[in-house]
Amino acid sequence: MITKNEILNEFKKNPEKFWKVKIFDEEGFKRKVCKICGKGFWSIEELEVCPEHKPYEFIEKKVTKSLDYVKAWKLFQKFFEENEHEVISRYPVISRWHPQLFFTIASIQDFQRIEGGKLFFEYPANPLIVPQVCLRFNDVENVGVSGRHLTSFQMTGQHSFNDGSPKAYWKDECIKLNFDFLTSVLKIPKDKIVYVEDLWAMPDFSAFGPCIEAYTLGLELVNNVFMEFSYRNKIVPLEIKVVDVGWGHDRLVWFTQGVPTVYDAIFPLTLKNFLKRVGIEKDKELLKVYFANTSKLDVENVLDLKEAQINLIKELGIDEKDFETKIFPFEVAYAVCDHVRTVCFAVADGALPSNTGAGFFLRTLLRRVWNLMEKVGMEIELEKVAEWLALEFHKVFPELKEYLKDVQTILNVEKRKFEESKKRISKIIESWISKEVSEEEAKKLYQTHGISPLLLKEYGVKVKVSKDFLERISQKRLKVEKEELEFDLSGIPATKILYYEEPEVYEFKAKVLKMFGDWVILDKTAFFPFQGGQHWDEGYIKDSKVLEVRKVGNVILHKVDTIKFEEGEEVECKIDRERRNVLKINHDAIHLINGAARKVLGNWVNQHGSEVGIEKSRLDITHFENLSEEQIEKIEKLANQIIEKNLNIKKFWLERNKAEKTYGFRIYQGGYVPSKMVRIVEIEGFDVEACSGTHGNSTKDIKLVKILKTKKIADDTIRIEIVAGEKALEYLKEREKLLKEIAEKLRVDEKEVPQKIEEIFNEWKSLRKRLKDVRRTI
Ligand SMILES: [Zn+2]
Ligand SMILES: [Zn+2]
Repeated sequence: MITKNEILNEFKKNPEKFWKVKIFDEEGFKRKVCKICGKGFWSIEELEVCPEHKPYEFIEKKVTKSLDYVKAWKLFQKFFEENEHEVISRYPVISRWHPQLFFTIASIQDFQRIEGGKLFFEYPANPLIVPQVCLRFNDVENVGVSGRHLTSFQMTGQHSFNDGSPKAYWKDECIKLNFDFLTSVLKIPKDKIVYVEDLWAMPDFSAFGPCIEAYTLGLELVNNVFMEFSYRNKIVPLEIKVVDVGWGHDRLVWFTQGVPTVYDAIFPLTLKNFLKRVGIEKDKELLKVYFANTSKLDVENVLDLKEAQINLIKELGIDEKDFETKIFPFEVAYAVCDHVRTVCFAVADGALPSNTGAGFFLRTLLRRVWNLMEKVGMEIELEKVAEWLALEFHKVFPELKEYLKDVQTILNVEKRKFEESKKRISKIIESWISKEVSEEEAKKLYQTHGISPLLLKEYGVKVKVSKDFLERISQKRLKVEKEELEFDLSGIPATKILYYEEPEVYEFKAKVLKMFGDWVILDKTAFFPFQGGQHWDEGYIKDSKVLEVRKVGNVILHKVDTIKFEEGEEVECKIDRERRNVLKINHDAIHLINGAARKVLGNWVNQHGSEVGIEKSRLDITHFENLSEEQIEKIEKLANQIIEKNLNIKKFWLERNKAEKTYGFRIYQGGYVPSKMVRIVEIEGFDVEACSGTHGNSTKDIKLVKILKTKKIADDTIRIEIVAGEKALEYLKEREKLLKEIAEKLRVDEKEVPQKIEEIFNEWKSLRKRLKDVRRTI
C-alpha cells in the first residue's frame, strides 16, 4: 500500500499543479517553504515558517466584528446562499446508517456510501452547505484544559460535486469564494491570511487529493480538500471530483471575539448561568494570562498534561493555590458545558448512554462531568445546563429544544445509575492505585465494569494504552446474518425476486438452475428467505417440500426434503399461504410496537434487533430499564388503537437521499444499511422504517397485538415478546378458559376471583400462625 508521505512527495514535485489557484497570483500570494517542517505555504507577508509553529495571535485582538454563534451562522448562510449554495439540515451525530462508524466525524460522511468496497457520493443538492455537528472523543482529556478542544463541534461542510452540473466548481472558484468570505464579510486583512499546502486521504486511499488550509493569526479556520484521485495499484482520477471544505464554525466564532478560550465564545450564556449558580467569581486578568498560553498544552496523557500544566503555571508566575481555586473550576465549567452539549445532540438524535458501543462514549463523558464537579465541590443538575444550552443554540439547532425533555430524562436516569455504581467502581479503581494498568487489563476493566482508561487516569492510576484504545476496542461491527452455507456460487446469476413486486403471488413457475445436495437454486422465486430477523417461507417446489430458504449474496437457496426434479427443469412452485400470512402480520406488529414504544417511552427508543417468527415474535428496543405494567399497557393500547384505525401499510422503493429527506434518519432501525435505493415500509401517519421484510396492506389485518412479557437483556436493551393476529386471539381465549376454570373451582364469579384468592391466602396465613402457636404450647 502507498503511504501519505509518498503521495505528498510526489505532489511536491509540482506544487503549482496541485495547490496553486488563480487568486494567489491576482492577490499577490507567493509560495514559500517552511524552514521547520518543509511544508509549502502561500502568503503575502514575507514569512519563514508556516503558521503551525506559531502561537495564537488573535486573542485579545480586534481583527473583525465580534459575532456570536447564531449571528456568525446567519452571515455565513447568507453569503453562501447568495453564491448559489443550497443550505441543508445537518445529519444525525449518530451515524446509524454507517456500517463502521458510531459517530459523524466529518460533514462529507453524510454523502458517502460504500458498497462492494467502492465509494459512492450521493447528495441532495449541489453545491451545498451543511451545519454538520461532529463528535470526536480522542481528545477528551484536553477539553476544558487546552482552551480549544471540544467533543462536539460544528463543521460547516461546503461541498461541490463535479458531476457535470453547471453550478459545480473546483479549486480556483472554491478558494476565491472562501477568500471573499474571509476578506469581505469577516473583513480580515488579506495579508493576515496564510494558505498551507497538505494532502488529505481516506485511510484506504479510496479517495484523496491536495488540501489547502487557511490560517489567520495562528488559527486554522478552514480546510479546503480537493478529492480528485483514488489509489488502485496506481494513482487514478476519481469519476467525480469533490470539493470537501470544512469550516470550523466554533473556531470562526472564537476568532471574531478574540476571547481567551473557544468555550467563552460559543456558549457564553450557558457559562454565565452556570458560574452564577455554582457561585464562582471570575478573575478576568488571571484567566486571560493563563488561557492565552494554553495552546502549549496538548499532550497525550494526563500525567504529562499535569506536568505541563505545572510548568506553565511556574512559567507564568501563577501561584499554585490560585490555580486550584481560580483556574481549575473554570476548566471544569468549560468541560461540563462541552460534554453536556455533546450528550444533548446525541440523545436528541436517538442515542442512549450505555456500557457498550456509541452509548459508552456518552456515559464516559457524563461520568467525567460528575467526577470533576465533585472534585471542586460544584453542585448543579445537568438538566439545567441542558436547558440553557437549548436556549443558546435553538436558533441553529431547534432539535435541542424540541427534545429537551428527553435529554433531561436521560440525564436524570444516568445520574441515578452513576450513584448506584459509584461505590463499586471506586473500590475497583482503588485496588489499582499503586499499580500500572496495561492495555490488556484496561480492556478487561472496560468490558466487564465499564471503566474507561480516562476514568482511571482521573483517579490518578497510571494507564498504558495507545491513543486510539477506545476507538479500537469499541469498534462497530456490522451485523451480518450468519452465512454458514458455503457453496461455490460463482457464475450463478442473481435470483429474480418476486416477493416484493408481486406480494400476492403464491404460485409460480421457475427453472431449476442448480442444486447442491438438497439445496435448490431457481432462476426466480417468490419464497422469502430468512432476512432481517424474519423467518422464511415454506411450501413446495414441484412435489418437494421446502424446509428452509436462505439468501447468500444475491442468490436465494431453497432446502427441500427430497429432490423430485432435475437441473434445467421447469417446475411449479407453491408457497404456504397461511405461514406467509402469519409472518406478514407479525412483522407488521413488530413495527407497530416499535413505533408505539417510542411514543410512550421517549425519543431514545430504537429497534436494536428483532425476530419475526410463527408462534411468537420479539423486538429488542433501546431503553434504560425494564418496562412497568403501566408502560406495557400503554404501548399495547396505542398499538391496538392503530390496528382499529385501519391505516394503510405502504411499501415502496425510494432513492436514499429522498427517503432521508422525507422521513428522516429514523428509518434506519435495527442496523439497516442503506443502498442506493431504500425499501420503505410506512404505516401511514404512524411509523416509517426502511425494511426488507414482507408486510400486509392494512393495520386492520393484524387484528390484535398482545405483549407477552418484557425483560431487560442488557444495560440499554429491553426485549419485548409479542403475539399478533389469530395467535393473539387464541392466547386470550386460553387465558379466558383458564380464568373460567379457576372461578369454577373456587365457586365464585370470575370478577370475584382476586378477592377470593386473597381471602384464601389470608386464611391460610392465620391458620399457619395458629399452628405455630399450638406447636409452641405443646
Ligand atoms: Zn511548518
Ligand atoms: Zn421490519
